[in-house]
Amino acid sequence: MSKRDYYEVLEVERNCTHVELKKAYRQLAIKYHPDKNPNDQEAAADKFKEASEAYEVLSDADKRARYDRYGHEGVKSSFGQGGFGWGDFHHQADVEDIFGDIFSAFFGGGRQRQQRGGGTRGRDVGVRYPITLEEAFSGKEAEISFERLEQCEPCTGSGCKPGTKPITCIQCAGRGVVRTSRGFFTMETACPHCHGEGTSIPEPCTSCNGQGRISQKVRVSFTIPSGVDSGMTLRVRGDGEAGMRGGERGDLLIRFEMEEHQQFKREGNDIYFEESITYPMAALGARIDVPSLHGEEELNIPPGTQTHKVFKMKGKGMPTTTNGSHYGDQYVRVVVEVPTKLNQKQKEILAEYAHATGDKFKPAHKSFLRSLKEKLEG
Ligand SMILES: [Zn+2]
Ligand SMILES: [Zn+2]
Repeated sequence: MSKRDYYEVLEVERNCTHVELKKAYRQLAIKYHPDKNPNDQEAAADKFKEASEAYEVLSDADKRARYDRYGHEGVKSSFGQGGFGWGDFHHQADVEDIFGDIFSAFFGGGRQRQQRGGGTRGRDVGVRYPITLEEAFSGKEAEISFERLEQCEPCTGSGCKPGTKPITCIQCAGRGVVRTSRGFFTMETACPHCHGEGTSIPEPCTSCNGQGRISQKVRVSFTIPSGVDSGMTLRVRGDGEAGMRGGERGDLLIRFEMEEHQQFKREGNDIYFEESITYPMAALGARIDVPSLHGEEELNIPPGTQTHKVFKMKGKGMPTTTNGSHYGDQYVRVVVEVPTKLNQKQKEILAEYAHATGDKFKPAHKSFLRSLKEKLEG
């Protein structure tokens, strides 16, 4: 599918201002919010993703200029990791402001709208978590340790040397934005001096160099949901990076990665397993015990079973994450094994069997043939 024009996606004119752009994006974000599209959440999410991408490019003066000149090619490198959008969580502050607005709109203002200089929400932190099949089957309490930005204690997050205070930014006079003119256009960009905060720090805290936050190793406990699979992500609210200047914490996003299992192969909620059986079992039929994640389960092998036949054990697979009482199936492929070592008695019985079925039977070893002949003739 060819990419749609970003201006078209945001339904704006090519010469629109930054404010118009933001307004258009905000309207689309509300329009495509999952709560407003209960019957078509996936399509809405795709639309929203498309709008976010367009906004991320056009809201950045440099990227917008490149896009205007070269089209999608000019801004290609920013995207294209594809898939799940792991990188999407590190939106610019602007985008987060918009999210803040949407939250207020949807949850009755429960989440405070953040003012310029009034704090920035901490970023979400993504971590990968390897998981065994057994853990994914039963789910469990787990712990993960990782590094995240925590509020600096000596300055309590202000970034100012204890006893000093932030001052109004001289460059933008506290507005957080600066205007630049290029030909006919006037553009507003975040103030480079205060990074849009509107204030600056006269004497930075020595512990955090004025950042207000320090990277620290932390341990967080969480629950592995049963039925979880590779690529699924668990959002742990409020366990991401600390906010800045009183902003709230981001979230922790735990992405699960299944480890290979020695016996079982998983595909979705189904489990695949291979079991060896002997020739007599296959020919005469048998009841065998087969391992499963639910414990040993009896499987009936009917007489005359061919090698590589697959049996389905209904409901003996993985639980589904959406409905804990529903399980996938286990598929068992039986492989008839030819014995590699036989004692004399076994050889004789098999030879007799071959003789009885009328095989043109020529044993591989002559000595064996001799003893067999003697036996049959005697
Ligand atoms: Zn400034
Ligand atoms: Zn500090």
